[in-house]
Amino acid sequence: MIDIQSLVEQLELAACIQCGKCTGGCPIAVKSTMNPRALVYQFLRGEDFELTAREDLWDCTTCSTCGLRCPKGVKPYELIIALRGQWIESGKIPTTLRAPLTATLNQGNPLVLPREDRSLWADGLDLKEMAEGVEYTMFTCCENAYDPRVQPVPKALVNILRAANVDFGTLGLEEQCCGSEIRRLGESGLFEYLRDDNIEKFRAAGVKKMVTTSPHCYNVYKNEYGKTEFTVEHYTQVVARLIAEGRLKFSHRVEATVTYQDPCFLGKQNGVYDEPRAILKAIPGVKFVDMDRSRERSVCCEGGGGRMWMEGTSKVRIANDRVLQALETGANILATACPFCFLTLSDAVIATGNEEKIKVMDILQIAQAAL
Ligand code: SF4
Ligand code: SF4
Repeated sequence: MIDIQSLVEQLELAACIQCGKCTGGCPIAVKSTMNPRALVYQFLRGEDFELTAREDLWDCTTCSTCGLRCPKGVKPYELIIALRGQWIESGKIPTTLRAPLTATLNQGNPLVLPREDRSLWADGLDLKEMAEGVEYTMFTCCENAYDPRVQPVPKALVNILRAANVDFGTLGLEEQCCGSEIRRLGESGLFEYLRDDNIEKFRAAGVKKMVTTSPHCYNVYKNEYGKTEFTVEHYTQVVARLIAEGRLKFSHRVEATVTYQDPCFLGKQNGVYDEPRAILKAIPGVKFVDMDRSRERSVCCEGGGGRMWMEGTSKVRIANDRVLQALETGANILATACPFCFLTLSDAVIATGNEEKIKVMDILQIAQAAL
């Protein structure tokens, strides 16, 4: 039984004036019955809420647009996360989520792959594993560590950091899931376990400065781990600075027209818009063009909020529209800075039959080609 009153108080839903700006900006609302304004209204009216009849709660990508657009500071996505939590607490975990959640607890990743395989992506790279005194700890997201389609991304970061003479190491097999999407799936107990365990591991390894390959790891360490003893940056911030300081130089040209997908967890949620563009514009030969909807007005790729591991009720893919919007710019490369964006957009390029026209590449891969 949902305690409607306590959710209204805890999430300050009473501030809502029903202006509908949240729904107006929600990428899912046009494709699903999920409507953040109407959901908040139901709670304000104290209407009965039959949780398991609302499968559309799993459609939300937790992109945060609803909260950012709200003039009253309400965060409808936090209500959705809380309701997912109650769903999971009731034991009626959606079938497709059982394996990722269990594997995250037992193997430290939601891809249901062995913990001891986490560092296979780095075979042959001879990486330091947190030798005392390294300046940066490179944190490889679960997707980047295990999925062969995005394993080239951390490898590119290794090559770029080495080209700029940066002293860095990794946590090796001590690395595990950051818990970002686990929290957004509503599994707050597992998130708290991962957070506390990770903080202990980071402390033991002497982590001082973290650089992440995923905006999701960056966001959770920066905003949801509480006070920590380390600083964290997404790789775009570190690489843009290395270029600005003259430590990273390019000696080859990449002749391409490139547009860029702002990841929600980097752009909208943390205001990192300029650094990715600064890197792309610094690469010789690159002609950079923004999509009409970019930066604060960018559109979610649909991979966040645990959507990588489960189907929602909507079969329409936002990523397909995003590929078409990228093509309208005349770009032949759609650049990303997030493994979820990379994967959803790559699938969308195939689904829309545009493999001959546009290619999805992480910014690191484009920068590596120019070294
Ligand atoms: S934008 Fe904010 S105030 Fe407006 S309907 Fe949505 S939650 Fe309510
Ligand atoms: S977080 Fe994004 S997808 Fe979820 S309700 Fe808000 S705007 Fe819609």
